[in-house]
Amino acid sequence: MAAFHLSTFAENDKVINFLFPVKTEGIENKISSVFGESRGDHFHNGMDISSNGEPVLAMGEGKILYSRFGEDDPFGDEFGTGNSVWLDHGKGIYTAYYHLKDGRLNGFLEDRILGAGEKIGTTGNTGHSSGAHLHFLVLKDYGKIILDPMKFLPPIEDDTPPQIGNLLVHVGEKFTQINDGENINISQSFPVTVGIQDSGKKPGQRRGVAQIQTFLNGEPLKKAGFSSLNYDRGEWRNPEGFRFGELYYRDQYLLGNLDFRNGENTVRVLTWDFKGNLSEKSFTFYVTRIR
Ligand SMILES: [Zn+2]
Repeated sequence: MAAFHLSTFAENDKVINFLFPVKTEGIENKISSVFGESRGDHFHNGMDISSNGEPVLAMGEGKILYSRFGEDDPFGDEFGTGNSVWLDHGKGIYTAYYHLKDGRLNGFLEDRILGAGEKIGTTGNTGHSSGAHLHFLVLKDYGKIILDPMKFLPPIEDDTPPQIGNLLVHVGEKFTQINDGENINISQSFPVTVGIQDSGKKPGQRRGVAQIQTFLNGEPLKKAGFSSLNYDRGEWRNPEGFRFGELYYRDQYLLGNLDFRNGENTVRVLTWDFKGNLSEKSFTFYVTRIR
């Protein structure tokens, strides 16, 4: 039944009732990747649902904006998105569905209106995809803003706060873990990162980090959210305007190039998940500045 809960999307004066885009059971265990996380050198711009051969459904009533299938150019290179469909829900709101299996459904080259929940394809593994899944996106402003799809889905259980892992200092290709109470020697400022994971009720479930806030010796370093990506000044940015490289370093959350003082230093990390569950962790350590 999980596939047919309703969710409401109020954007300006327009309200869209969005359905879950895959007809499947046990969805709470099938979210394999969430919005805004690091993909090495870019943000993950949608949500991934592990699924193979199941119906993909239009999240809301809309027009077929565009579809692209391997059959359009059988001898060409495969697109990263694989077989994919974009729907136009009006007022600049789109949804998109990637990595679909098989060919285009009949009638998908026409400019026609689909009902909410109408089948638009089948989950597959086409394009840049390792393991069959649906990658789907919710876009507004004609695609210049991408929103966290989690917002528009039926409530997904998550009462477990994010887990804050290791604090790392990166020197070139190498990194060193900074443990609470440790003494470190350092010659200059280097990138400092922290690992954060957010699961649901079970450790293997993926939910997602919604916000981080960091401090060095009581001074705020950064407050950053992950609810949307905005295309601005030639790059995708989070709501505070940070680029990917300002938020992530080597798949960890980047606090910045930190200039530790000689003596005691404290790094404090606060992080919230989508449901507002908060985690907090402090690392206090002793620095000897060397030359
Ligand atoms: Zn994805």
